[in-house]
Amino acid sequence: MKVISSIAAMQRHSAAWAQSGERIGLVPTMGALHEGHMTLVRRARKECRKVIVTIYVNPTQFGPKEDLARYPRPREQDLAMCRKEGVDLVFAPDNLYQPDHSTFVEESVVSQGRDGASRPGHFRGVATVVLKLFNLTRPTNAYFGQKDAQQVDVIRRMVRDLDVPVKLVIVPTVRDPDGLAMSSRNRYLSPEERAVGVEFARLLQLAAKRKSRNAGWLAAELKKISGLKLDYVERTEDRLCAAVFIGKTRLIDNERVK
Ligand code: AMP
Repeated sequence: MKVISSIAAMQRHSAAWAQSGERIGLVPTMGALHEGHMTLVRRARKECRKVIVTIYVNPTQFGPKEDLARYPRPREQDLAMCRKEGVDLVFAPDNLYQPDHSTFVEESVVSQGRDGASRPGHFRGVATVVLKLFNLTRPTNAYFGQKDAQQVDVIRRMVRDLDVPVKLVIVPTVRDPDGLAMSSRNRYLSPEERAVGVEFARLLQLAAKRKSRNAGWLAAELKKISGLKLDYVERTEDRLCAAVFIGKTRLIDNERVK
């Protein structure tokens, strides 16, 4: 497995691989890898000749008061997990931005509301870095998790609107046995906080099965839980989406509405 951090080296590899005409799978991540990420990797491994995992904690998608500095960075463990799954190349740059970087990708409809409202500038950072990573790695296929439902919508729209030649593959949310959606941020939770997170996931699943008024019901139930602060509950066309704070940790989750 190749591990590279230089942009020039990444461009050399992707140019050679793009020429081969074979399927190249990209799994973009911020590291602190878990089974959710590895499920994306395994899907890419099954469908592509080469698999690239990128590990980059992208500063432009964090707000000034968010957890950029304390975001976990267990590099050796991440690399071991990638090696075990047969990843061909890990691109882990230290920095992807020029000091005077001034060009951003801004989706202006599906990025509104929900996480876009709670985290101003977040999706601008996500769309910008994802397009940069597409340009650097030149994948035929790119793998994203349904856990970040609004992110999927933003990237889908960007790919459509900007004619990006990549096939998006969306993978269902992977959960721990207790029902909590896997997330790098779960590492922040104390055992007591984790129990609150499990209750959040349980109620969301339950609400998604209700025939009607699931958003209002879920919001009311979540407000009863001590140690949990509701950010939003929103029903989209086909999903029930929610975000909560448990202590300092912000968790998101969503479920298809029956
Ligand atoms: P992140 O490192 O959190 O930016 O996530 C990288 C990719 O993994 C994104 O496409 C996420 O949606 C996906 N992902 C993260 N957690 C999960 C999960 N529990 N199930 C499925 N995909 C996930």
